[in-house]
Amino acid sequence: MKALDRAKPLEGFWEMLAAAPERLLVLDYDGTLAPFTAHREDAALYPGIAPLLIDLQRQGTHIAFVSGRPARELAGRLPLAGVEIFGAHGQEHLATTGLLTRAPLAPEARQWLDEAARHIIAAGFERALERKHGTVAIHWRREDPEGRARLTDLVTDLAQGLPGGLHGLAFDGGYEFRVRGRDKGTAIAELAARHPRALMAYLGDDITDEDAFAALPRDGLAVLVRTEPRPSRAHLWLRPPDELRGFLGAWMAATR
Ligand SMILES: [Mg+2]
Repeated sequence: MKALDRAKPLEGFWEMLAAAPERLLVLDYDGTLAPFTAHREDAALYPGIAPLLIDLQRQGTHIAFVSGRPARELAGRLPLAGVEIFGAHGQEHLATTGLLTRAPLAPEARQWLDEAARHIIAAGFERALERKHGTVAIHWRREDPEGRARLTDLVTDLAQGLPGGLHGLAFDGGYEFRVRGRDKGTAIAELAARHPRALMAYLGDDITDEDAFAALPRDGLAVLVRTEPRPSRAHLWLRPPDELRGFLGAWMAATR
């Protein structure tokens, strides 16, 4: 565990958390709470994380998720009920009531994403494709070096014809084409607006989590969870799973 921002000591955050009228813990899933696996379907929480999350929720901390996965798919992997989830990098919102809403999608953007998906399938990479609302993701973690090189070429070709309403972003283990206007940062801003009295923290591992770190309210805590640190806007870096369990345990102790 290491402070990346000396102006924000963790002890000060725990003191503020103890005194806060409301607490909101926002979490990314893949790479943060669950280690990466060759098959995304196999990604499960690190040992010991589920009971900590259950206890934190019981103790009164609001827990929400912001993930690249579709919101309902993520809901099915969680040990918690009644959590708010922003899925597909903020393109989807699953309320605590179970109501799913999706950001409007322009016909031109939808058509381009459909065509991009067809192009990837036609090149023989259906296994690498993940289709979500407002996004097409290409995963190359499972590919050999030749497959990765071919997928990189495909992505480069597709990026040339990208319409203005879409953009492309690299993530850990792949690349994604996505409708502009929603990201993990807009999800954090919505959560902050809905919980104006809450002290918030966000835990994430990836480049896409930097938008979320940047969107936190001034008193919020941004936590980078990764085996190795990297340049980041986060205030704190933790190495999973031990330091992650330690952080969640300290949250519980501060709010008991
Ligand atoms: Mg992640």
